[in-house]
Amino acid sequence: MLAASAHIVIAGAGQAGGRAAEALRARGFQGGITMLGEEAHPPYERPQLSKDMLGTADKPVTFIKQARDWSSVLDVRLETGAPVADCDADRRTVTTADGRVFGFDRLLIATGTRPRRLDGLEGRGPKVQYLRNVEDALRFRKSIRDKSRIVIVGGGVIGLEAACAAAKHGCRTTVIENEPQLLARALPSLVSDIVADRHRSHGVDFIFGTTVTGATAGGVQLGNGAEIPADLILVGIGVEPVATVAERLGLLATAGIAVDACGRTAVPDVFCAGDAALQWSRCHGRDIRVETWANAQNQAIAVAGNMLGEQKDYVDPPWFWTDQYDLNIQVAGDMCDSDHIVRGEPASGRFSVIAMRGADLVGALSVNAAKDMAMLRRLLAANKRPARTDLESPAFDLRAALK
Ligand code: NDP
Repeated sequence: MLAASAHIVIAGAGQAGGRAAEALRARGFQGGITMLGEEAHPPYERPQLSKDMLGTADKPVTFIKQARDWSSVLDVRLETGAPVADCDADRRTVTTADGRVFGFDRLLIATGTRPRRLDGLEGRGPKVQYLRNVEDALRFRKSIRDKSRIVIVGGGVIGLEAACAAAKHGCRTTVIENEPQLLARALPSLVSDIVADRHRSHGVDFIFGTTVTGATAGGVQLGNGAEIPADLILVGIGVEPVATVAERLGLLATAGIAVDACGRTAVPDVFCAGDAALQWSRCHGRDIRVETWANAQNQAIAVAGNMLGEQKDYVDPPWFWTDQYDLNIQVAGDMCDSDHIVRGEPASGRFSVIAMRGADLVGALSVNAAKDMAMLRRLLAANKRPARTDLESPAFDLRAALK
């Protein structure tokens, strides 16, 4: 255990930063903890920003803890509106944008990601929005309540969850996706086609294989030459790591901040967790960034223990869910470049798809089949290699494969 005289600085006050601070105290760390966040808020849950908060009711933000409880209950010094602008590995200090210097014995980088920008659209006519923080969600909620005509750039999770909300509010909505299918990196075409059809039945249009190249007074121009009327452009074309701290430490962070299974970076006593961490994934067979709520929470908890000296590998397979109207879709591991076994009948609206690479189970997806997914996640986490013939049989009980 790290000495009670030690000081831990957490750069980033999002899901990963907040959960790490809680975990440090839950494991008995009695030293100082300072958490520095860019946003004006204490750590909050992000999934609701593209889900519940865009619904018809005025859902409030879900904070991980109320602001006062960070200090009064956990004895954590939380500084909001205080992004880290500099970091010195030799002197073991971080400096916030307003010039304050904080010393550390161990540092956790939990600064996450920011939306990739699509330049050249602002100031032409339609408003341009992104969806990453509370203010973005409130702005977008107002736009859809105003029944704006909306063009969404990117048919990923942000674009599709935003499209659901816009369609439910009766907005004329068009999604522009540069791939030939939705969520191409996460879903097999069987499932993206079901998602696209569900959206179309709610009035959402799709244009594939092109992107928005410019804006006009009344809409957007596409790469294929078409023009679409719009009051608002919502851009959801992926995220990139916030790399200021890593770069100041001399870490190459374009693809993410490389960590080992314990969350250690190449700089002694500096750790990283959450969206920005570039970590080995057995399912993918390569290093990836895992941009999910579950990873931000669970990797941060595991890495907090390792900061105190536990040395436990974090190996949870990536997992996320998305709600598209009445479809609850969950994805674990990697669905790309693999053979797929379909369990259940897709036409029934309730089925799973299992991804195999040779004899290895590498991914799983469920549509309205959460129980199957719970079992498949356990199989993935335990690195089980169930027989393909068993998985192909609809009568096979997945629980038997865990034994
Ligand atoms: P995603 O990476 O999920 O999706 C972006 C999509 O936009 C991809 O299909 C991408 O295609 C496409 N794209 C990229 N550039 C262009 C372009 N210029 N024109 C048209 N399409 C383009 O990112 P999101 O922005 O949707 O989400 C951001 C983050 O938020 C993600 O990290 C995600 O995990 C997280 N999030 C998670 C949710 C969940 O778990 N339910 C919900 C909401 C957000 P290509 O693959 O070719 O790049």
